[in-house]
Amino acid sequence: MTQQEANGHRHVRTEEVLEYLAGSLDEARASKVEESIGVCDSCAQQATRLRALAGAVDRWTAVEHGQAYWRGQLTSALDTAADAPQYGRWRDRLARWREAARGRAEAAVRVVMRAPGVASDLVTDGLDLLVRPESQWRFQRQARPVPVLGPAGEERAEPVTVVSLGRPRVRVVVGGEACELVVRVDEVGGAGPGLVMLIGKGVGAMPQVVQPGKQPGQRAYLARFKDLAPGEYLVVFEPR
Ligand SMILES: [Zn+2]
Repeated sequence: MTQQEANGHRHVRTEEVLEYLAGSLDEARASKVEESIGVCDSCAQQATRLRALAGAVDRWTAVEHGQAYWRGQLTSALDTAADAPQYGRWRDRLARWREAARGRAEAAVRVVMRAPGVASDLVTDGLDLLVRPESQWRFQRQARPVPVLGPAGEERAEPVTVVSLGRPRVRVVVGGEACELVVRVDEVGGAGPGLVMLIGKGVGAMPQVVQPGKQPGQRAYLARFKDLAPGEYLVVFEPR
């Protein structure tokens, strides 16, 4: 295996992976290893092989559950969005996000969007690597609503909601018939709500960036992402 690929990705070295699995890398170097495992098949294969040798299970669990993958997606989404002409007005904020928070978010929620009428899901656990350590902001699942019977007697998929603890008060709702994701922000501080970014799975997918807006006479700021294809997404919030 060569150390360097054409796109600038550097494969992780064996010693690095072993140190990582032993938990002895500092946070910055551990993040680099996780990103490589998340974005590169060759690195992932090597890590799987070494993990079997090292017998390290606990740290691997987090990686296997996709945190490393999404860490890589978040980093490249910030790069892509900061360079995208349509998000030019937020270029400085996106660049600051990337640098100041070292590519982490203030909060993150994983979205599993299913077909219209099939219950979608929001996952709030296992995303610690994506959130900056100083953040006080965590989401919690609201009790799943009881399925409602539709006109023909079949169960209708109700939207699923997560709500943030503390301030700002943020509610994320997904699903229902519209294949839509809605972020509602209440109780923001003086700086107003931060940007909300939706990142899809897949290499080089263009993230969607939205500044939550307020209709006249309304209290809450809303960001809507419509007509989402079934699949997995990550919603992240700009550090403020
Ligand atoms: Zn690699």
